[in-house]
Amino acid sequence: MSELVISGLHATVAGREILRGVDLTIRSGEVHAVMGPNGAGKSTLSAVVMGRSGYEVTAGSVTLDGEDVLAMPTWQRAVAGLHLVMQYPTEVPGVALRDVMVEALAARGHASDNVRGQLVAEAAKIGFEERFLDRPLNVDLSGGEKKRNETLQLAMLRPRIAILDELDSGLDIDALRDCSRRVEELSNDPDEPLGVLAITHYNRLLTELKPDKVHILVKGRIVASGGPELATTLETDGYAAFTDGDEPAESGAGASGLDDLFRM
Ligand code: ADP
Ligand code: MG
Repeated sequence: MSELVISGLHATVAGREILRGVDLTIRSGEVHAVMGPNGAGKSTLSAVVMGRSGYEVTAGSVTLDGEDVLAMPTWQRAVAGLHLVMQYPTEVPGVALRDVMVEALAARGHASDNVRGQLVAEAAKIGFEERFLDRPLNVDLSGGEKKRNETLQLAMLRPRIAILDELDSGLDIDALRDCSRRVEELSNDPDEPLGVLAITHYNRLLTELKPDKVHILVKGRIVASGGPELATTLETDGYAAFTDGDEPAESGAGASGLDDLFRM
């Protein structure tokens, strides 16, 4: 069993404080949803936990099973069992998915024989077309196919804790169902249940991927936590009740800074 503990986390980007004291604990088998308006700091939270460059942690801690995650380089965080499904998966020309999986499994000390067979079996579970397995990573895939590909990698690598940054963006209804159902299955695995931090704008991701807890992140702080009913309330009432009104939540150019980086 694993436990990711985020405690009093403050982080700045380009000299601006974006995370202002985030506390979250995610254990194996638990699904936590983090919802919040554009620019609240959701992607920043995922970037800081995975160690993306350009973000400075100014206070607080992140530990995985007691180990100091913030002291590790990104690759070591991944080997330790943290996994990020990116909002905008990166295209990597010239590098085949199979080769990435062979290297990643070997780095984790997992068996890397018959990777092709495992990929075919996993692809079938989420409706990812087999012919895409031989493409360079994500190259020329549609938005939905990229997210299926991300879900496939998650299922292959079996991390302990997965952060999904808007797995639902760019997905059609069928792909959304296939991907969220697969993640839900992984979280219910009797041997090694996956812990999930699912960042999303929409309740629809959460119809298949059933959250134990829902947290609302506004301006770098978790302002409310509750059960799945909180997501339903948001769907009907929006974030108005959770923002203080005098300072509107950011949107547009401001909110897209990180998203643009992920698109590169
Ligand atoms: P969310 O994912 O909740 O929409 P983000 O974490 O992407 O929000 O962004 C929070 C704020 O931090 C935004 O104002 C955004 O412009 C800013 N920000 C995030 N990453 C960067 C960056 N690399 N450079 C400059 N500003 C950034
Ligand atoms: Mg985001």
